[in-house]
Amino acid sequence: MQQEITFFQRDVLKEKPDTASLGFGKYYSDYMFVMDYHVENGWHDPRIIPYAPLTLDPAAMVFHYGQAIFEGLKAYKSADGTIQLFRPEKNMKRLNDSCDRLCIPQIDESFLLSAIKQLIFTEKDWIPDGEGTSLYIRPFIFSTEPYLGVRPANQYKLLVILSPSGAYYGDQLSPVKIYVEEQYVRAVIGGVGHVKTSGNYAASMKAQEKAEANGFAQILWLDAKENKYVEEVGSMNIFFKINGEVVTPKLNGSILPGVTRDSVIELLKYWNIPVHEAKISIEEIFAAHERGELEVFGAGTAAVISPVGELNWNERSITINDNKIGQLSQRIYEEITGIQIGKKADPFNWTV
Ligand code: PMP
Repeated sequence: MQQEITFFQRDVLKEKPDTASLGFGKYYSDYMFVMDYHVENGWHDPRIIPYAPLTLDPAAMVFHYGQAIFEGLKAYKSADGTIQLFRPEKNMKRLNDSCDRLCIPQIDESFLLSAIKQLIFTEKDWIPDGEGTSLYIRPFIFSTEPYLGVRPANQYKLLVILSPSGAYYGDQLSPVKIYVEEQYVRAVIGGVGHVKTSGNYAASMKAQEKAEANGFAQILWLDAKENKYVEEVGSMNIFFKINGEVVTPKLNGSILPGVTRDSVIELLKYWNIPVHEAKISIEEIFAAHERGELEVFGAGTAAVISPVGELNWNERSITINDNKIGQLSQRIYEEITGIQIGKKADPFNWTV
């Protein structure tokens, strides 16, 4: 399906924001990639066009039955000006896994990746080059067919938009306070938690709002069945270092298989640090803390590594590692970000 990508030039380019004011997800570049699907002719009409609002039929099925999925990855500018992506083929694969779960037609992964590269080349001046900054890439797909019956749609749109994003951290990593949620659940086995459907995030907001109102940055989700086993954090996977060994929840069908999670596991293996994927109860974590052996960090595209300084569960609160950045968190952070921006060797061939 290697189709020609049409390019529509815009008359006037936007003014680029100051690197200092970037933040996350506030600014969008000049162009976007768009492609349509119709059951009769498949994915067609790939194009790079000026970034602009869309017109959709009010009966478009996405508004009613929520077939909407997305991905998130970043482009980095290295010191010599090379543009690097980090394991983008994993995001393409996960997008197709999301498609599959919501009965959205599969995309050609290598074609979409080449389209993303072309969009980024067009928009290379939008990649910020301050330390820790990047160009966030948001591919997404949703149903557009106007129809009110419940069934998979026959028409979809795939878009890729780009958003320059600022450094997640200032000078150094900062530990976060996390609330272990017991009332609400994020995902169930057999559900959609293992893929990136927009609805997962809609379903998580109530608990996130509650956590924030109580002074916590993020939620740690437990399993939906027994409310006992650790799953993941808001938009990160979670790792625990206990007694010199690292453990992360085993993928069970309700946890999102993060690209960063996989990279952390590979890196630890490469460093000969024991790492296990296992079912871990929150009780075990609190017990490990009593023995004084705990380091906790989240892993995801946004922050790469986010040290956890406090966990609050069932009205018990523990301070982890004196609310300081753990040594392992720091080491992994430096290694992965170093690889992403081309400052460190990439023995895994992760960068593209
Ligand atoms: N879990 C959830 C629910 C997420 O939204 C994300 C961010 N995509 C992650 C984990 C981390 O995944 P990744 O490392 O691929 O960004």
